[in-house]
Amino acid sequence: MRRAGLITAAALQAVREAIKPGISTLELDAIAEQTIISLGGKSNFKLVPGYFHTICASINDEVVHGIPSADRILQAGDIVSIDAGAIIDGWNGDSAITVVVPGGEHKISAARERVSRVTEMSLWHGIAALAKGKRLNDVGTAIEKYVNSQGKFGILEQYVGHGIGRSMHEDPPVFNYAVHGSTPKIVPGLVVAIEPMVTAGSERTKVLADDWTVSTIDKSDSSHWEHTVAVHSGGIWVLTAVDGGASMLAPLGITVAPLGD
Ligand code: MG
Ligand code: MG
Repeated sequence: MRRAGLITAAALQAVREAIKPGISTLELDAIAEQTIISLGGKSNFKLVPGYFHTICASINDEVVHGIPSADRILQAGDIVSIDAGAIIDGWNGDSAITVVVPGGEHKISAARERVSRVTEMSLWHGIAALAKGKRLNDVGTAIEKYVNSQGKFGILEQYVGHGIGRSMHEDPPVFNYAVHGSTPKIVPGLVVAIEPMVTAGSERTKVLADDWTVSTIDKSDSSHWEHTVAVHSGGIWVLTAVDGGASMLAPLGITVAPLGD
């Protein structure tokens, strides 16, 4: 799964570097696909029935599942979330980033950077909780606690993270908020995609007429960050981060543990 994770990371890095005003989300999709193929992988999003693209690209009030299109041209100051995944040798990676397109009006761009940073850091707090927690609910509790500590934001509840392995989407669900009742124990061998989706307003969403795109009802901006994380006998390793998550987790008191051979 490390290979699938690193291919996914490379695809997202290539897209990140290509994001600029005037580029279409379909062009970004092609960049992601070329990167994945050049590294020997395949898009696992294309294996989802009814989905024909390598990435999801969700702009501004769109939260997740935006479909790439030649008609969707990025504008300066847009906030765009890119979700991508790769499969190689039958194993999957899944990760998402959010980027504010450079050159926008300062006040709007700063507010969008803020919701992206809060979402990204909530992901890292969730990953840190996976490293030191006992049950999966510790992850959602940490994400919710961090987001709420940062001001008034909405956390999506209809869409959650998931187990990942031979299939991109497996049990167990990984909630981005505290839930009641028993949740699975965090044990070696567990691999999960943790993916908080956070808005600058209400958490209420609707699915657009294309039957895919999830958008906020109040038109508030939103962000989505995701990593695939492995729990193993030595600790945790973030499979979709080139450094295993070391740089982002060190300030949170977590030392990642490299995978054995
Ligand atoms: Mg994803
Ligand atoms: Mg996912």
